[in-house]
Amino acid sequence: MRNYEDTYRHKGLRKKLMDVLRDKGITDETVLAAMNQIPRHFFLDSAFDEIAYEDRAFPISEGQTISQPYTVAYQTQLLQVKPFDKILEIGTGSIYQATVLAEMGVKVLTIERQKVLFEKTKTYIFKSKYPNLKFFFGDGYEGLPTYAPFDKVIITAAAPAIPPKLIDQLKAGGKMIIPVNEGEHQRMLRITKNADGSTSEEAFDNFSFVPMLKGKQG
Ligand code: SAH
Repeated sequence: MRNYEDTYRHKGLRKKLMDVLRDKGITDETVLAAMNQIPRHFFLDSAFDEIAYEDRAFPISEGQTISQPYTVAYQTQLLQVKPFDKILEIGTGSIYQATVLAEMGVKVLTIERQKVLFEKTKTYIFKSKYPNLKFFFGDGYEGLPTYAPFDKVIITAAAPAIPPKLIDQLKAGGKMIIPVNEGEHQRMLRITKNADGSTSEEAFDNFSFVPMLKGKQG
């Protein structure tokens, strides 16, 4: 069950959450403005109606999670979203991260490997609001060669290593935000593809994601 009512109380809790994110070091106000527009409780069971605005990850279904708001803000900030960007997301999950990007006005293509979660995108509440957001069922390791190249790639699951096909599908000058490591914690990396096809890497903080798995399920 979902509660698709966005009350003043929800809006108030959301505004406070943006202050929490500022206190934790998020500085990109365009990211915070987008997150402030998105009712996060729409992406969770109604049992989470109020705690949806705590800065925590929560279970969705199929053993997956909706990322912590801080993590969403952090990855989105690192992505340096620009008007007209075409962005590929790996790991649709609850659709929350993809919605934040769609609200920023860019073109978003998101891939999910679990059939049950992909099927849920068909009843996405904001389908008509964000025609710039498109859903795909597939293995994120393969990317979307037909739609490539992308300005940006954002991976919202823990990758054991940087997937080479996703680097291939980046434009020259394009950027990928990816949490890398198989262990309990992943290092957030920003990979930039240079004009000669080589890559440069910047390392940021550690996070904890569900694993990026090979192949489709279901
Ligand atoms: N961006 C999501 C985070 C979901 S958790 C959100 O905002 O809620 C990560 C998701 O990545 C899970 O749904 C998981 O099934 C998916 N995933 C893991 N490996 C994948 C792969 N190889 N390709 C596509 N999706 C993958």
